Amino acid sequence: MVGTGKFFVGGNWKCNGTQESIAKLVSDLNATTLEDDVDIVVAPPAIYIQQVVKSLAPRIQVSAQNAWVGGGGAFTGEVSAEQLKDIGTKWLITGHSERRHILGEKSDFIGKKSAYALSKNLNVIACVGEKLEERESNHTFDVIFEQLQAFVDELPSWSNVVVAYEPVWAIGTGKVATPQQAQEVHSAIRKWLGEKLSTEVAAQIRIIYGGSVTGANSSELAKQEDIDGFLVGGASLKGPEFATIVNSGT
Ligand code: PGA
Repeated sequence: MVGTGKFFVGGNWKCNGTQESIAKLVSDLNATTLEDDVDIVVAPPAIYIQQVVKSLAPRIQVSAQNAWVGGGGAFTGEVSAEQLKDIGTKWLITGHSERRHILGEKSDFIGKKSAYALSKNLNVIACVGEKLEERESNHTFDVIFEQLQAFVDELPSWSNVVVAYEPVWAIGTGKVATPQQAQEVHSAIRKWLGEKLSTEVAAQIRIIYGGSVTGANSSELAKQEDIDGFLVGGASLKGPEFATIVNSGT
């Protein structure tokens, strides 16, 4: 890794689990040995965040998977950054491809939501990634830079931001990017951020990879210079495998 922070591993539990299965996952995580030199974050479904905050070892921080774009009020069904903060949430995932492509969130909305979360002292995992047809038509970098530009336009500071590169074709498909494919995009993102923001931000920011990361492929990916950690979906629902991924960066 070249980002100057610690290796970072996030577990995105998506819309999975029950009180009972989450209690088991938390107790498995609490029982595993986790390297000290890694920032670890898990993102339960919003309704279980409090349960996880209360039961998970404080060594692991808790993220939300979504928040409203601004403050609370007449926004039926939404949860605000203030409310997430109030119950002990430390992070927010924004720009996840499932929210972009299934829920129709646009880059400028995602940028505004991320800025609002930062203003309420949530850290942000800002996700970007291309679809298969975009990769195959050689538009990977156009798509990623357009998505990143919205964050650049809105975010006042990048010190509490981690960027996640998650190719859509690799998410939940078992089709992980090769270490070379991931490294190529990560280094391009770092270079682009250096040009748009500053060499300091580019040198310090952590760029993590997501998309079919498992305990079997994480250590090869982690050897790549510009891969500073992972955002893990399916494999984060299994405590021991998630621990293997956490420990693969050291
Ligand atoms: P996956 O999901 O690990 O199940 O592919 C990754 C993500 O969506 O963050």
